[in-house]
Amino acid sequence: MSTKDYLEKDYYKVLGVSKTATKDEIRSSYRKLARENHPDANRDDPKAEDRFKEISEAYNVLSDENRRKEYDEARSMFGGSYRPGGGTGPGGFDMSDIFGQGGGGGGGAPGGERLSDIFGGLFGNRSRSGQATRSRRGADIETETTLNFREAADGVTRSFQLTSEAPCVTCKGTGARVGSAPRMCPKCSGTGHENTNLGGFSLSEPCSECKGRGLVVDDPCPTCTGSGRGKSTRTIQTRIPGGVSDGQRIRIKAKGAPGENGGPAGDLYIVVHVKDHPVFGRNGDNVTITVPVSFPEAALGADVRVPTLSGFPVTVKVPPGTQNGRTLRVRGKGATRKDGTIGDMLVTFEVKVPQALNDDAREALEKFRAATSDYDPRDGLEARAKGA
Ligand SMILES: [Zn+2]
Ligand SMILES: [Zn+2]
Repeated sequence: MSTKDYLEKDYYKVLGVSKTATKDEIRSSYRKLARENHPDANRDDPKAEDRFKEISEAYNVLSDENRRKEYDEARSMFGGSYRPGGGTGPGGFDMSDIFGQGGGGGGGAPGGERLSDIFGGLFGNRSRSGQATRSRRGADIETETTLNFREAADGVTRSFQLTSEAPCVTCKGTGARVGSAPRMCPKCSGTGHENTNLGGFSLSEPCSECKGRGLVVDDPCPTCTGSGRGKSTRTIQTRIPGGVSDGQRIRIKAKGAPGENGGPAGDLYIVVHVKDHPVFGRNGDNVTITVPVSFPEAALGADVRVPTLSGFPVTVKVPPGTQNGRTLRVRGKGATRKDGTIGDMLVTFEVKVPQALNDDAREALEKFRAATSDYDPRDGLEARAKGA
């Protein structure tokens, strides 16, 4: 509805209720009027349909708390001609007096009764499916992101562009062109489903005319082509905690699709991909690194410089007699833990053997072999192979 519509149309007058009418008063008044003016019940009155549309439009606005508020505000701000309740009928307005449907006739129009059942069904249906009033939690959204190794270890703030289902912005979800309103689906009489009799039992299916909505739109909203659904795109920023690992799915509470009618937002799930690092690896909260050492460094011991994730190398002592594959722990140089503390770095030494030797090196090694001839690294290997 445009502000112009709001200013020109007195929805309270259309529904015959006071400006302070309660939801129930508005609903019961609408039901009576809609029943009276329903096109199916007034086939020989071409104006009935217009009245019916007008009534539907008024009800669409006044039955929705937010839109009613908007409407009231627009009119109190700009509507000089608008006089609340002025002579149009106070809250106690009794429709049955006017339309003669009250205690008047025990034999009241059977057609009217049927329609009232139908309308009961329509509104029961609408409130069950939550279209009209019920608040609904927003949907969960899943997205993904790729982090480099360091971002995954330390945590990082990322922005995400999220697209979710939302009521169409142009028509506010009615599906009807602004200024018009949807009407009850004539095929299913607003129930949203149709029953096919299969001889013996009947099958209930979503109405083919209105696709289960219970409402049809004569003049569709050009933005959503009548569906009433739209997409909302938002950008959110969120912190991805440190210590996430490749393939992990993290949940960010209440950052999913917004709720409807005041319902809570859904959650956002982020599937994290972590790129491999050429040097560092991860083992839980610990960062791993393999550091090559020469045979003399391993045998004699040495101080070696080891790079860390932060970029500042540390000096690590290789103990004399270090075996290939030995792992040392360097505290506080790992990934950030959930509680904000820092994990460790696990340094694994890999003893490298030179592929080519110069004469001096060869001579020295020959001397070394002679000097260690009583050391047999395979001592007892064959015996162990036979045993067990
Ligand atoms: Zn629309
Ligand atoms: Zn239908």
